[in-house]
Amino acid sequence: MKLCSRCDTYFTPKVSYQIYCSESCRDDATKEKIAERYQVTRRQKRIGKVRKCLGGCGFDLSIYNDSGFCSNCNISKKSVDKMLKELKGFIDYEQD
Ligand SMILES: [Zn+2]
Ligand SMILES: [Zn+2]
Repeated sequence: MKLCSRCDTYFTPKVSYQIYCSESCRDDATKEKIAERYQVTRRQKRIGKVRKCLGGCGFDLSIYNDSGFCSNCNISKKSVDKMLKELKGFIDYEQD
């Protein structure tokens, strides 16, 4: 018996190097690995580049920032989105 590397279920391996209990576990793990690698290359591409916050505040973003906004602008972006939504609701109301 072996323990699946993904779902922690005991299984009987068909081949000695089998580490996942099922094909779906193996597929999921493969997909995750690809996604992880993609994320890492995306971040590595950012090294040496200056990425400024899209919020226009001039803040330098870290390579780990995926949103494009610094934490301050991220908050205000959310409130802007909320405001726009409310505004849209207001316009829709007006047109009725
Ligand atoms: Zn499994
Ligand atoms: Zn910002």
